[in-house]
Amino acid sequence: MQNKTAVVVGAGIAGASISLALKQRNIETILIEADTGPAKHASGNPIGVVYPFLTKHKLAESEFSLASFLYFLSIWEKFRLKNLVPHVDGIYFLLDSKNTYDRYTNALISHQIPISLAKESIEPFSNLPSIFFPEGKSLSPVCLTNQLLILSEPTIKYSTKLLDWEESENGTKVICQTDGGKIECDYLCLTQGYQFADDPNLAWLPLKKVRGQIIKFPEQNPTNSQGILYGDYITPAINGYQVLGATFDEFKLDENPRPEETENLWKELSKKLPNLVSQWDPQDPQSFSPRVSYRTQSQDRHPVVGKLPNLSKLDLSITYQNSLKNSQKKINIPYYESVGILNGLGSRGLTHALYAAEILVSTMLKEPNSIPEPIFNSLKPDRFLIRMWKREQLT
Ligand SMILES: Cc1cc2nc3c(=O)[nH]c(=O)nc-3n(C[C@H](O)[C@H](O)[C@H](O)COP(=O)(O)OP(=O)(O)OC[C@H]3O[C@@H](n4cnc5c(N)ncnc54)[C@H](O)[C@@H]3O)c2cc1C
Repeated sequence: MQNKTAVVVGAGIAGASISLALKQRNIETILIEADTGPAKHASGNPIGVVYPFLTKHKLAESEFSLASFLYFLSIWEKFRLKNLVPHVDGIYFLLDSKNTYDRYTNALISHQIPISLAKESIEPFSNLPSIFFPEGKSLSPVCLTNQLLILSEPTIKYSTKLLDWEESENGTKVICQTDGGKIECDYLCLTQGYQFADDPNLAWLPLKKVRGQIIKFPEQNPTNSQGILYGDYITPAINGYQVLGATFDEFKLDENPRPEETENLWKELSKKLPNLVSQWDPQDPQSFSPRVSYRTQSQDRHPVVGKLPNLSKLDLSITYQNSLKNSQKKINIPYYESVGILNGLGSRGLTHALYAAEILVSTMLKEPNSIPEPIFNSLKPDRFLIRMWKREQLT
């Protein structure tokens, strides 16, 4: 693999994670980023939280999330990231309704999660039952992205936008057109976040841009020493600041911070954690720093990871109905063999990106598959194509 070259598009947490997976296989990597530096978009919040998403019973989604969390912790350990990325260990997830209590306490059993990873506990400021993740983290996504890039040592081209790409005629190379010139490579990994639709080869994917607002405010005294999730989340202080997040709007996507959302985040915090907020001097939340950024969320809220289907080569003469009649239930999906995508990380990119990147790179390099089949299949972009084919939405 030493003389193979990969181009990674996008220097958010996804692109940085792919760069690390490529580095671990000695593949020369060029990372191109349209902006002037890394982690300027979704991955640019001052503090984010890392913990696994769990469901009452084992599902591909929760198994992937748990495996991602464990993979994150292994990379954290292997590269001694605790010495390099500002962070605080420990996340409380409040179980403030009967349903959440039922879901999470059963999840611990059904997923056989050891108490070193998660256990029932009482969160001290709300006095509410919660799941405590001792290894969960509040951390700086920007520093994490930067550290992954330092470890990966790709050739980075900032202020360079991918405009177009195509496979070479014999299909062995991918030719990328950027606003800084042409780059030829063996593998192309696409991680453009919410700007995916600028790429005509991705426009068919049911991904959505979703607006989110957080606020950063000065460390309060006394304050929570661990992250607390209660629908929204409040982080502990890192470098003198805490973060309160996050709002969610998939319809109105304006870039300007909304004062009413700041107000609502603060009100909700006061309602859910009154014992905490009542100890603070009165605050004017409008004086804090808001930040707006955009998640990319897929139709089923699960990431999109895998080789990219090539729609232009899809045989649409076989309809789903006819294939059923001929008991030939499968659609044959052609791929761009050397082009992969990692997107749709939604609200959990910090937890999921490293493992998703490992899966993507291992797939593109045709390594023996160590990922359980249901998890692997649940991530592939193919799932949307098959759904659209069945509904006859592809013609
Ligand atoms: C408000 C908010 C709060 C969140 N909180 C958390 C949290 O606490 N925990 C958690 O796990 N997750 C959280 N998330 C989700 C997480 O931040 C995202 O899932 C993750 O950052 C997505 O990373 P990404 O690399 O896919 O996208 P991005 O970080 O957006 O990176 C995409 C990059 O691609 C570049 N790009 C796009 N098009 C091109 C092109 N044509 N050529 C070159 N470059 C291009 C962009 O400039 C950008 O830098 C939050 C998200 C939001 C919006």
